[in-house]
Amino acid sequence: MLNIEVQMCGLVLTLLLIFFSMRHERTGLYSEHLFHISLIVSLCCITLDILSVIGISYQDSVAEWLTVLLCKLYLVSLLTASYMGFVYSYSDVKKLRDNKLLRISQLFLEILGDTLIMISPVYYYRNDRYVYSYGPAANFTFMFCPLYIFGALLITFIYAKKINPHRKRAVRAWMAIELLAAGLQFLKPELLLVGFGETLGMIILYAELENPDAILDRVTGVFSHSVLRDYLQQLYDNHRSFSCVFVCTESEWRLDVALENQIKLDMVAFFGQVSSAKLFRGTGNDFVLVYIDSAEQDAESRSKADIAVIEQRFKEPWEGGNRIDMSVMYLPRHDIVDAADELLAVYHYHRSELNEGANELMLLGDYSAESIREFKTVHREILQAVSDDRIEVFYQPIYSFEHDSFVSAEALARLRDSDGNIMMPGRFIPVAEESGMIESIGECVLEKTCIALKDGRLRELGTDYIEVNLSVAQCENAKLASIYTGIMERHGLQKNLINLEITESAVLNMKNILIENMKELREKGCTFSLDDFGTGESNLNYIVDMPVDIVKFDRSMVQKYFTSERAKIVMTASVNMVKQLGYKIVAEGVESFEQLASMKELGIDYIQGFYFSRPLPYNEFVAFITEKNRRPVLGTALG
Ligand code: C2E
Ligand code: MG
Ligand code: MG
Repeated sequence: MLNIEVQMCGLVLTLLLIFFSMRHERTGLYSEHLFHISLIVSLCCITLDILSVIGISYQDSVAEWLTVLLCKLYLVSLLTASYMGFVYSYSDVKKLRDNKLLRISQLFLEILGDTLIMISPVYYYRNDRYVYSYGPAANFTFMFCPLYIFGALLITFIYAKKINPHRKRAVRAWMAIELLAAGLQFLKPELLLVGFGETLGMIILYAELENPDAILDRVTGVFSHSVLRDYLQQLYDNHRSFSCVFVCTESEWRLDVALENQIKLDMVAFFGQVSSAKLFRGTGNDFVLVYIDSAEQDAESRSKADIAVIEQRFKEPWEGGNRIDMSVMYLPRHDIVDAADELLAVYHYHRSELNEGANELMLLGDYSAESIREFKTVHREILQAVSDDRIEVFYQPIYSFEHDSFVSAEALARLRDSDGNIMMPGRFIPVAEESGMIESIGECVLEKTCIALKDGRLRELGTDYIEVNLSVAQCENAKLASIYTGIMERHGLQKNLINLEITESAVLNMKNILIENMKELREKGCTFSLDDFGTGESNLNYIVDMPVDIVKFDRSMVQKYFTSERAKIVMTASVNMVKQLGYKIVAEGVESFEQLASMKELGIDYIQGFYFSRPLPYNEFVAFITEKNRRPVLGTALG
């Protein structure tokens, strides 16, 4: 009886693994390639293990040189398997992949180990229950293998953050099994566990992350979106030229699930027919086609030709007569962006700008990458500025016709960047809104405004309240009221010193949460203004039941009043209606004396504009109102 039952199981399992993993289309990823080589090495290992046991068991009928050769080749395959484990362990770490010294030394070690195994004698033992080999060649194997095994384990710890967590877990388990099997076999040579240990390692790799089913989209069978990043990064790493076509279909098709799936399958079949590109799922219902330069034709011209065909096809109905709207986002050359993460960021960033039903073609050019770089730069600046306390507040004085003095101001955020320059809100507020940083900025502005108002000096100088902007995202936060009252209370501030500016879009979005917040803040004494009036839909229906005190007419509306007759009519009517509803009005963007006079005539209550002052840092603002509020500002100038 041969002691090869375990190896036979290992052989069957390895063959099954090979069958299942080779069945699918390949991604072409480096780690997948290494896994396939490891599988072949594992197959050789287990086969040679079996053959060597047969050779030893049937010494009388098998030539001795052949048995010796099989034993040595088996040992060589064991060393190669550990070598593969080592190489696989750092397949995510570009720094190590590109390290020539590492590659040469690991190869040198492998060749040295193989040579020592091949030239050293190997002995074998046989009794009626089991056989095994031993001697110097086996000892060399047990000496060299742990170098790779410990090396692989070490890499998973040193580069823990750079390695895919699944790969990390798989490599650690694989190496631990190898180590255990080798240790047991070293102590009890007749156990012959090492070859089977290698098979178990392969099963773990397969189950953890090299299972093609895990990287395929369940519905369509094409590569999933998660693989796209690794694939693109590999193309960048290998300096391959490529183009990308993002087929962006509506995010909701509103069809029966079975029908949707059928249409997706039909789309995949269509892409397969018309294009030689590698196909991936994008986000939502998108598909991504990646074209690599080939010997016959470059990626750009192939992709360009395909786009026309794809657009044509989408004009026709799919299964069940359903038309699916789609737009194409096109990256003609890979070098427009520098890395896979950046490319995917550009895709996601511009995806939201696509008008889904419009069947448009968005060409991703240098500007697309530029806009995402700008977003990242500003985002980084915001994070730094918030943590370094570099958000500053400027105050723009607000003049009252009734009092002929400056009665309030608007607190406007400024970001002092790392070079000490001022960054304007037009640049950082949209990024802060999109990245969620707006809440921190808003709280910081309120905090600083509270500090400015705390000692009562501004009040003495005639400032009744300060207006603080709230962005839409803040209004949708159910905790806004408690956070804001918390800040004001911490500074012991009377709440009626703060007027909060909300915008029309906030009113449109999450009205219930906003109303609750407003109710709570109003009960504590805060007042509210409606900002940006005249920029959006300007539907007065939205504001009739809003508990605001002031409506701020946007600069664009005020400016148009002086250039367009029709705009003049609209603004005049709006002023009348808003006043009849009982709100006070601030006109923003008043830049000249003539404009000021017209606004007075129109019945506007307050003026905020460069005619009086730009937004000023706290000290300059104090100096400004100290000077201006000493006596009537206009006196008899406007009659
Ligand atoms: P806004 O709330 O409508 O603020 C008025 C903007 O108009 C200010 O621009 C102000 O400098 C500008 N402005 C006022 N009078 C004139 C004028 O006569 N001529 C011209 N050309 N401009 C005038 P700023 O400070 O650049 O702020 C722009 C926008 O950024 C603000 O518009 C507001 O929506 C947002 N923002 C500023 N600070 C904050 C903040 O702390 N939180 C939030 N959520 N948004 C803020
Ligand atoms: Mg404002
Ligand atoms: Mg405004």
